[in-house]
Amino acid sequence: MVSVKLTVETEHLQKYLGVQEIGERLCVSKWKGPLHIGCLFHHGDHIESINGFRPGTKDLFLQMLSSSIASEVTLVLTRNKKAAVFHLEGCSCGDS
Ligand SMILES: [Zn+2]
Repeated sequence: MVSVKLTVETEHLQKYLGVQEIGERLCVSKWKGPLHIGCLFHHGDHIESINGFRPGTKDLFLQMLSSSIASEVTLVLTRNKKAAVFHLEGCSCGDS
């Protein structure tokens, strides 16, 4: 497992990211951003924090996104490097 820090536009997360509560964790279940943003997420990435706060639940996470006045938020994820990447259609990033 590795820790990954990402800065992503708030709007992009609201539009294109799907999250799911698994036990106590919040996991990435979908990523369908436009191609130029890239394949940012892997299946099952755990969202550890958003702007330094632990989101806890999906509702809280969505609330934090909608109440964020900044155009970008910083996410800290815990990632299993062996997990598959959420590839965008037509991407050429070459990650497995
Ligand atoms: Zn890709």
